[in-house]
Amino acid sequence: MSLLAGKVGVVFGVANKRSIAWAIAQAWARAGATLAFTYQGERLRENVEELAATFGAGTLTLPCDVTRDEEIAAVFSGLREKYGRLHLLLHSIAFAPREALEGEFINTSREAFRIAHDVSAYSLVALARAAAPLMDAGGSILGLSYYGAEKVVPHYNVMGVAKAALEACTRYLAYDLGPRQIRVNCISAGPVNTVAARGIAGFTEMLKLYEARAPLKRNVTAEELGATGLFLASDGAAAITGQVLYVDCGYQIMGM
Ligand code: NAP
Repeated sequence: MSLLAGKVGVVFGVANKRSIAWAIAQAWARAGATLAFTYQGERLRENVEELAATFGAGTLTLPCDVTRDEEIAAVFSGLREKYGRLHLLLHSIAFAPREALEGEFINTSREAFRIAHDVSAYSLVALARAAAPLMDAGGSILGLSYYGAEKVVPHYNVMGVAKAALEACTRYLAYDLGPRQIRVNCISAGPVNTVAARGIAGFTEMLKLYEARAPLKRNVTAEELGATGLFLASDGAAAITGQVLYVDCGYQIMGM
């Protein structure tokens, strides 16, 4: 299958093999896309370089802490220099201080609120703005959200509010970028055991709850998220923009 042959993509948010970004990147690469990867700081550099090298020794890897405008600018000038254009962007990034993901939402500090929104929502706007000039033949921008944007999920707290902002940003960006044939969508994923997920208090119970309550009676796999990521990046989704697509074994439809 070469649905993405000739496409160039950039992937933000691979930390390790369990990352949702890695599953989507693999699906994109198998479909023929050429990919570049970013990593946040030296701590993850070796990991990401090693994973990226599985797609060929010349795979571009660049540092990017999405709270730093100068690092975002450097990523896109690196992409312009190496490829000249861009078709796909994956935003698979979220962060909130650990203390904000425990206890009550009402105790969220101003600083934790700011950090969660800066890293997890504003960054999509900043990346889309930097990517758009390179997407001169149209493109697909994809973010990762969670059900806590829509309903109260205990302990998800400020991250739920930041995901609601991410989903609203998706719609506004889709409107702004639509005339340039750049589509912007989110996958709202069911729980997957990753580093970020383990930071949420009660995550193991969440996995069990989904298995018991979701219509498909199981949890989503990373490979399935990869397949949906491929669909949304492909021409099969050419008329889909501004959407949040639930990939959660049906959990979102349940009332009880
Ligand atoms: P993950 O492997 O830990 O990926 C999260 C990524 O975000 C990491 O690479 C992390 O880098 C990066 N990141 C955090 N702060 C950053 C910053 N300032 N600049 C650049 N990168 C930064 O976890 P994941 O579960 O795959 O998460 C990916 C996305 O899926 C997130 O948006 C998450 O909210 C969403 N999601 C996850 C689930 C789930 O159950 N796992 C469900 C629904 C949605 P560091 O490791 O350096 O912090």
